[in-house]
Amino acid sequence: MEQLIVSVVLAWLGTMFGSFAGAQVWRLRAKQLVEDRRNGESVNAQELKQLKGLLRPAISDRSECLHCHHALAWYDLVPLASWAALRGRCRYCSHSIGRMEPLMELGVAVVFVTSYLAWPQQLTSPLSIAAFAMWLIACVLMAILFAYDAKWFLLPFAINILLIVVGVVFFALFALSGGSAGVPLWSTLLALGIIAGLYYLFSLMGWSGLGDSILGISLALFLVEWQLAFLAVFLANLLGCILIIPLALQGKLHRKLHIPFGPFLILGTIIAVLWGDNIILFGMQASDVLITQLML
Ligand SMILES: [Zn+2]
Repeated sequence: MEQLIVSVVLAWLGTMFGSFAGAQVWRLRAKQLVEDRRNGESVNAQELKQLKGLLRPAISDRSECLHCHHALAWYDLVPLASWAALRGRCRYCSHSIGRMEPLMELGVAVVFVTSYLAWPQQLTSPLSIAAFAMWLIACVLMAILFAYDAKWFLLPFAINILLIVVGVVFFALFALSGGSAGVPLWSTLLALGIIAGLYYLFSLMGWSGLGDSILGISLALFLVEWQLAFLAVFLANLLGCILIIPLALQGKLHRKLHIPFGPFLILGTIIAVLWGDNIILFGMQASDVLITQLML
């Protein structure tokens, strides 16, 4: 019963934070465009005009439609429900709102609830609950990075740094609550080397951006062990391949196709944090069976 109540509350919180994350994505994009223009880079003028309103000071900060700039009422801002009721269109100008917002609201809610149900540590002491709360905050930040990178192939630096700060606090709380009992510090350092180091090498070769490497620093702090970091990178590449194969079969794969690494790394990390120990155990048992079969 308690589990059900907590799940419902987390699902509700998830849609609210998902909605918040969606708003931050557009705000970050507006900031980026203004900065790019100041640096003399060519910027889509129409996009800048559309998003510029988001940069007003916080006092007059009200949510508005990105197309007609009509201020949105509270009933336009109910996560998922408003989008569903208006079939994804603005109430005032009936311009399509896009699928990013409802997907983020749903996505964060799903990650919140599954994190709670699959969390590898017992949530009994205040320290372990605090560490879990840090993970939830990290999920909101990862949702922002995920959406931004998927849309514009860039991981905003400020969010990346914020995620490292949350990662350090999480790591400290997790260690103090006994979550990483028996995990030597070199294992975490190796985890850092595996993700951040590997993607740094990728960035030197021009395959990925430096942002992916910076993202790897925080992800390693949540993964704690090198085995889980290795699994996260493996899963990220596996998921990437699963996406690329249908594109290749449709002939949409050309040399200039950009593939953002961030979303795959984030998905791989979430899976590895929640189910990594079980996946590794299963893999070892499966290979044991295979080896015994081959020996016979
Ligand atoms: Zn509108």
